[in-house]
Amino acid sequence: MAHRFPALIAAPPAAQGRLWLTGARLFDGTGGAVRDGAAVLVEDGLIRRVGDASEPCPDGARLLDVGQRTLMPGLTDAHTHAAGRLPETLRGAEQALPGTRAHFLQADLREYLRRGVTTIRVTGSQGLAPQEARQAMRYGAFRGPRLLTCGKIISATAPGGRFYGDMYREADGPDDMRRAVREQIRAGADFIKVMTTGARSNELEDPDPLQLTGSELSAVADEVHRMGFMLSAHAEGLAGCEAAIASGADTVEHGMFLHQRPDLLEAMAAGGQVLVPTLSGYYWMAGLGDAIGESGAQRAPEMPPVLVQLADHNLEQGAASMRAARDAGVKIALGSDVNHGTALEIRRMIHHGLTPAQALVAATRTAAEALALGDHIGTIEEGKLADLLIVDGDPLGEPELLGDKHRIWLVLQLGVPVAGRALEQDAAEGRPWVLSASG
Ligand SMILES: [Zn+2]
Repeated sequence: MAHRFPALIAAPPAAQGRLWLTGARLFDGTGGAVRDGAAVLVEDGLIRRVGDASEPCPDGARLLDVGQRTLMPGLTDAHTHAAGRLPETLRGAEQALPGTRAHFLQADLREYLRRGVTTIRVTGSQGLAPQEARQAMRYGAFRGPRLLTCGKIISATAPGGRFYGDMYREADGPDDMRRAVREQIRAGADFIKVMTTGARSNELEDPDPLQLTGSELSAVADEVHRMGFMLSAHAEGLAGCEAAIASGADTVEHGMFLHQRPDLLEAMAAGGQVLVPTLSGYYWMAGLGDAIGESGAQRAPEMPPVLVQLADHNLEQGAASMRAARDAGVKIALGSDVNHGTALEIRRMIHHGLTPAQALVAATRTAAEALALGDHIGTIEEGKLADLLIVDGDPLGEPELLGDKHRIWLVLQLGVPVAGRALEQDAAEGRPWVLSASG
């Protein structure tokens, strides 16, 4: 029996009946060319058939002509920390109450969907926040992306445990590591994340050495895989990468120095292990804002100079590793590591050497595979869930359109239209955008 993902169990209700999406340009996520004149039959939230716009509307289906817009799989961001960011309050203003952050997380999740991101993997958040939000979505409080969580990140006792609040479960020794894994499964994790090295985002952690013993990492990997879960390894320095790859980690997060070790990339390609390059995380730490490429960018770093310098180095190294991984045949999944950075990460992946098709596949099919959801999402193929995105224009020729909310025309989740410009009142024109579903 297939692994039961809490994220799938918590899915909101699917659309009922049949919907014929026609007049589409189709980017199906498999990496093939965009096809004009396509149509897709959605039935009870599933893609029933990929057909041709010249066909008549199937019996009993609502017809939606998408007007030659591009129909593509909803985007997946395989590395996020969606947590709801509280605004800074002025001195003397009331401080945030304990439950306020959850409302900001809800706002973040709605915004992911509005931007065409239909699945996110939360690779570390505070406490039970992702599970709570997921439950609220399951029971209809609001719509957001399908959400996978690691629960808490498993780390050796380390400075990060002090820096990142309730995001870490510190553990020491193989038995405690094993127990830490079991606690995350108990708490509703979809996958397990382990820190094989320290993090570049705090000045007290050294991201170079392997910070677990061999027996600690083996205990984690054994427990995770025996129970049928996926292992995500935070790995910066090469010793951490090497140990993560040898222990069978399913995704390697960051891995920015891997281009220096072709043997490790070869092992990843052979084992089907996925690299998540997280370029936008380095941009953020370097204070580069929304820049694409470093030259001429305005800087507003929020980190100490030593971490900003490291971020610059990591960006250069991480981009080289992404290219080397691609050349070595390693699967690459998109993970932005920042809030609402999915479209920007696509453009940065392209700027740093991927083709638009490679970047879009990383954001759809390969990201789905990295989450072990390749049978359910990531491509437009018969039998998959109808998590779909319809955009104005061609995202291969003009990838920047994915960052323009005005051109995110419609987002469907399990066949239900849930977000996009087509659903919003256009006050300027004085009329609503109605989905005229004439049969
Ligand atoms: Zn991260």
